[in-house]
Amino acid sequence: MINLSGMSLSELENLMSELGATKFRAKQIHNWIYTKSVSSIDEMTNLSKDFREQLKEIATVTDTKIKVKQTSKDGTIKYLVEYPDGECVETVLMRFDNRANLTACVSSQVGCAVNCSFCATGKGGFKRNLGYKEIIEQVLTIQRDTGLKVTNIVFMGQGEPLLNIDNVLKALEIFNNDFQIGARRITISTSGIIPGINRLAELDLQSTLAISLHAPNHKLRQELMPIEKKYPLDELKKALLNYVEKTGRRITIEYILIHGFNDTIEVAKELAHWLREIKCNINLIPYNSVIENDYKKPSGNDIMKFKYLLEHSGKKVTVRLERGADIDAACGQLRGKRENL
Ligand code: SAH
Ligand code: SF4
Repeated sequence: MINLSGMSLSELENLMSELGATKFRAKQIHNWIYTKSVSSIDEMTNLSKDFREQLKEIATVTDTKIKVKQTSKDGTIKYLVEYPDGECVETVLMRFDNRANLTACVSSQVGCAVNCSFCATGKGGFKRNLGYKEIIEQVLTIQRDTGLKVTNIVFMGQGEPLLNIDNVLKALEIFNNDFQIGARRITISTSGIIPGINRLAELDLQSTLAISLHAPNHKLRQELMPIEKKYPLDELKKALLNYVEKTGRRITIEYILIHGFNDTIEVAKELAHWLREIKCNINLIPYNSVIENDYKKPSGNDIMKFKYLLEHSGKKVTVRLERGADIDAACGQLRGKRENL
């Protein structure tokens, strides 16, 4: 069976010519898939009934299912989507106060090999990369289920996007061309995979690069992120400076705040110093307890102090709102839970 989701207009045109149909049919189908987000060929009502029957014999709209769906009081919706081989990933739809923005948080891999100490996804180990169609199916799943059009995408679900960079770049192209979601509305978050960052720098994309920094020195970072051994902070800084120089774009620095570990005044000063030459905004993420470990959330007061100190260095600092706390919407929780059922 052919899966129509993920096909470009020219692929659909080729399919139509094989079926002896006009190019215009491809345009119609493209519109039903990406803009109207239908779930079945029968819903494509501007195609004749005979043609729909012919198409149904060889194609379906999607091969991806919703395994679990949870809706939070704050409007966040979390899906566990299932691919034909039975593997599942999480996808989250976030609505911010500004109603026009609908942000999809997508996964790039099943599991993750980077194994950060605070992350539920990492704990489960790495299973496999997602294909680009599997990445875009997450956004289509949201659109089909809600009837809404996603406007922004963040690669902040499960997996390390820059360790699956070819599929991520292909998905980006489809988000731009077929979904009409501008590159500026797409963010790729990485734990600091230097070859991937260098490749993005050469491509000069308009998307935002977010770096999960989490600590301003080698010793502290190594405790949180084993990737620090392979791609240490000194090298990472060089790659970031090169990225900014090549693209002119401002980077987002993500920083998890863990009580008594990396949220002290000394560490804030060290972080401000580490970032001084880098053109960036900073996003502080209060640690979310997802797994059994000794880490604790910072107090509101400590978050504000840390924020104040960084702002003093002239950077723009935001604190990430906790979204969907009542529905296990933090990284890796839902997939982890399902496996324990
Ligand atoms: N692998 C990529 C993208 C996915 S993780 C990366 O690490 O950047 C997206 C963000 O969620 C990262 O900044 C990550 O550090 C954060 N995150 C993971 N577990 C978390 C937790 N328990 N509490 C708060 N943030 C967490
Ligand atoms: Fe992988 Fe990101 Fe989780 Fe680290 S935080 S284990 S890189 S998904």
